[in-house]
Amino acid sequence: MQGEMQPTIYRFKFGEFEVATILDSKSLRQGLHPSFGPERAAAEASALCAANGIEADRYEHPFTPTLVNTGRQVVLFDTGNGFLRRDIEQLRGRLPDGRLVERLGQAGYQPGDIDVVVTTHGHPDHIGGLLDRGQPVFPNARYVFGAAEFDFWKRGENVREARKFNRELFVKLAVPLADKAAFINPGDEVVAGIRAVDAAGHSPGMLAFHVESAGKRLLIWADTCNHYVIAVQRPDWQLDVDDDKDKAAATRKRVLDMAATDKLFVAGFHMPFPALGTIERSAGGYRWVPVSYQLNL
Ligand SMILES: [Zn+2]
Repeated sequence: MQGEMQPTIYRFKFGEFEVATILDSKSLRQGLHPSFGPERAAAEASALCAANGIEADRYEHPFTPTLVNTGRQVVLFDTGNGFLRRDIEQLRGRLPDGRLVERLGQAGYQPGDIDVVVTTHGHPDHIGGLLDRGQPVFPNARYVFGAAEFDFWKRGENVREARKFNRELFVKLAVPLADKAAFINPGDEVVAGIRAVDAAGHSPGMLAFHVESAGKRLLIWADTCNHYVIAVQRPDWQLDVDDDKDKAAATRKRVLDMAATDKLFVAGFHMPFPALGTIERSAGGYRWVPVSYQLNL
């Protein structure tokens, strides 16, 4: 027996850009239900999983940042789990070690090569690799945060009980970067060819990003859908980690509809590696279709 060996980097040309999805880490979790669809019967979730050939009791939860090299700037979307497991006792049993930096190296990038670090939202698995013992992991980067998202976590008002700890983490890992950061709103440009899209709901000011080059279009949807079956096929179902559940469901439907209508490629942080797919309409909802070779041509 040689043990598990699976791909962790997927790099491809995208118009005049080069894009890479990089698996930071993954965790094995118990029970899609009741995390997904707490308001639904367990049997309904089990039936949906069975129809899609996956177990309902155990699932893989991957964490996949996306890197876009425009030829002028190297832009990294989210920093994964980073050092949370090492540094934060409460997370030790829950999150894997982040391996983003090591795998960026395998993909050809040193930390100093990253020009812009974009944080889609302030949840732990997206900010965990911003700082290492108080020092920026990406020493030459400037930072981009959603203005509403940054403001929410920085202020710390109306943070629900389950996210109080997350707020402390944000103050520790993201707030110190404010003087090197730009704060943007939906519709704003990060660099030429990359524009923010409103995806609020999962967190108060989450942003997705449209990437467009030479007629090719990719949507980096962050945590709009957190499971490739349940959240895509049943976008109405609640998710326990959504901060505003109704808004998150409305955002899922709007973004899924846009992705299907505009035939966008999607990079999804928690989609199965390489975390790239397209969205098809199917009875009552949508379907995640993993990429095959479309991006290699
Ligand atoms: Zn996440």
